[in-house]
Amino acid sequence: MGFINNIYDFNDFKVHELKGYIQNTHIIDYNEELFLIDSGCINDVKRIEKYCNEILDRPVSDIKIMVLTHMHPDHAGGANKLRAQYNIPIAAFKEIDEWYKGLGGIIQHKIDCYLATSVAHKSNRKLEHILYSRKVKPDYLLVDNDKLPFFPEWQVLHVPGHTMHDLAIYNQKEKVVFIADLICEVKGRHCLPVPVLFPDKMADSFNRLTNIDAKTIFRSHGGILEAVNPKHIFNHMENLIYQPLNPMIEKAYRISKFPPAVRHNAK
Ligand SMILES: [Zn+2]
Repeated sequence: MGFINNIYDFNDFKVHELKGYIQNTHIIDYNEELFLIDSGCINDVKRIEKYCNEILDRPVSDIKIMVLTHMHPDHAGGANKLRAQYNIPIAAFKEIDEWYKGLGGIIQHKIDCYLATSVAHKSNRKLEHILYSRKVKPDYLLVDNDKLPFFPEWQVLHVPGHTMHDLAIYNQKEKVVFIADLICEVKGRHCLPVPVLFPDKMADSFNRLTNIDAKTIFRSHGGILEAVNPKHIFNHMENLIYQPLNPMIEKAYRISKFPPAVRHNAK
């Protein structure tokens, strides 16, 4: 299928960037131990298996923990399956299972699976089933500033805005941060995730990220950003928040307002 995975070397670890169905998924490799940032879509489990078996030459069960950045299909879709098959515990923001809760959550979950499928279709991917469970019941409930279980040099930052439960995963020593959907890319330009459901929280999250000491940013949609100045890049992102939406994106916003957290937040 010709998708290329990348490996990035740091002093303490390697980052394996796996090209998933519609997003990047990352394995952090300390030789002795691995951890996974996001499970990808449910159909990415087979890609993770293939990568571990064929490239890393080790069992998937060597992944000690997976941390989920948020509940969307391309980030948490494979989580339950990986845990069931390989006993990999899940760490996520403590309220992540609120996102698709209730009737609104059920509706939004279906819509998000549909939207993810349409992204796959537009990217000329073969259509595959990506329906997954809308709850993950994390084994480790994380809050802002927590250290990642088993990997205390990694800090989790609660950066809501895209959803209410987004996490960034930050390693201060190596100046590396994983920001999932916070900076996407369309035609070579940095852009906001779709949707930004909580603009004020998103602004706070970007503002906070201007103060971290990161040189390298890994993203789920778009390539690695190196030698960055967090002040410049996250200020720029913050400035995009209140700009008018184009009609297509506005449509996506309109069908993204069903999660209970969005309804509670509406005035
Ligand atoms: Zn997302």
